[in-house]
Amino acid sequence: GPSIVWFRDDLRLADNQALTAAVAAPAPLLCVYIFDEESEGFRPHGGASRWWLHHSLAALGGEISKKGGRLDLFRGRAKDILPALAAAASAGAAFWTRRYGGAEIALDTVLKTRLVAAGVKTQSFNGQLLHEPWEVKRGARGSFMVYSPYWRAALALPDAGAPLDAPEKILASPYSRGAPKRKSLDELGLLPKRCDWAAGLSANWRPGEKGAQKRLGDFLANGLQAYASARDRPADDAISRLSPHLRFGEISPRQIFAAVRAAETERPELKAGASKFLGELGWREFNYHVFFSHPNAATTNLQRRFDAMPWRDPPLHELKAWRRGQTGYPLVDAGMRELWTTGFMHNRARMAAASFLVKHLLIDWRIGEEWFWDTLCDADPANNPMNWQWVAGSGADAAPYFRVFNPVLQGEKFDPRGDYVRRWIPELAALPDKWIHKPWAAPAAVLLEARVELGKTYPKPVVDLADGRDRALKAFEAVRR
Ligand code: FAD
Repeated sequence: GPSIVWFRDDLRLADNQALTAAVAAPAPLLCVYIFDEESEGFRPHGGASRWWLHHSLAALGGEISKKGGRLDLFRGRAKDILPALAAAASAGAAFWTRRYGGAEIALDTVLKTRLVAAGVKTQSFNGQLLHEPWEVKRGARGSFMVYSPYWRAALALPDAGAPLDAPEKILASPYSRGAPKRKSLDELGLLPKRCDWAAGLSANWRPGEKGAQKRLGDFLANGLQAYASARDRPADDAISRLSPHLRFGEISPRQIFAAVRAAETERPELKAGASKFLGELGWREFNYHVFFSHPNAATTNLQRRFDAMPWRDPPLHELKAWRRGQTGYPLVDAGMRELWTTGFMHNRARMAAASFLVKHLLIDWRIGEEWFWDTLCDADPANNPMNWQWVAGSGADAAPYFRVFNPVLQGEKFDPRGDYVRRWIPELAALPDKWIHKPWAAPAAVLLEARVELGKTYPKPVVDLADGRDRALKAFEAVRR
């Protein structure tokens, strides 16, 4: 019978071990994607990820067709659909790339048992990480909770190896009668329904394997050399923007790792940038390592003493101001508007915006995490909660809670000429650099000349920075050891 290739968070043909193994078996393929929001414990995709997923599946389906195969789409519980499909098609084998969420692992385990019992050989592979979470070991003491020793240990392991080429041909199995009903891409219902808010996403992104490879190529040519210093400046184009492509597995970390290593061998001037950049990929690996042993990280403080943190009942107007980029703090607002418009936010702005919510507004990090989950194209089950917990101080290897980001100083340091703020907050564009990160402090004549009317064209600060900071530090006393 045919082999099933079950695509999940690995929407690519190259360096896909599951696909390569399936193609090597002498049987035609059933390439399958199941949009599953019903399985127990699965976290439903946010709006921006659904948009991304739609276009990524369109791209994957196109690439599979070009190779002679076919991508079949389903909607519903994988636990029902996959065994029914295997039975109807008399499949001999099923292949997939591993994922690392608690509910996903539990489901895959159940499915494996059921399929094997039905005579279907199953095989799973690594494809989303350089190293499996359990491969990076901390002696006899279990898993790492601190990044630096983790990444040192990971780098000391044997190299993840050379990435695989995409298969040349995919032989499609005919579709069996009696198999679960296939859906068209539109029937999955992933695109925005009421108003189409996705124009800014379409303008900025090209989901799919080709788009991912193009980003990587552009970054190696133009971004990597200056990356170590320029990555912190949100107005610069020094970052890779590979995160949504990685999230959906349109590119593998192994492909990125190998390409960066090859580039720095050829051009030694890339060394500093390369090591910093690979270290960031290391944060992704580390977050998955921790996530694997803390599957509830999106809802539970990694440091349990933070359970006693006296978060405020969030006042709706403050929450709204934060979400809409109307807090009165330009760096925070620029970030939140970039997020709403493009489905992405620069890491420096993410830290400032998250810290502002958690500290100056004293609002539970989980509320911010949910908003990011809904609006980020790269919304990632490990990276999003881990980074929020890092900012909140409750995470693994987190910044200490009392280190409060000051959005004015952050802005002056990392966006010194205000280019990032002017790009996203045009109503402040005419303010001189000196006041661009603190318009409320500007003399009346300056505001007048720049046609800024605080409280009208741009909001007054939603909270005083010193007051917010003091309140946060006082609240933190409750959980301090
Ligand atoms: P680059 O600077 O080019 O880095 C390359 C890759 O390294 C990234 O694509 C990413 O995979 C990884 N990386 C970089 N920084 C981090 C980091 N701090 N933690 C983990 N991996 C990292 N990243 C996500 O992928 N998904 C999320 O949902 C997410 N939520 C975040 C929430 C908050 C509050 C914060 C502060 C950060 C979050 N990040 C998240 C991490 C980081 O901001 C993004 O990975 C990065 O901005 C993506 O841009 P890039 O691909 O150009 O990164």
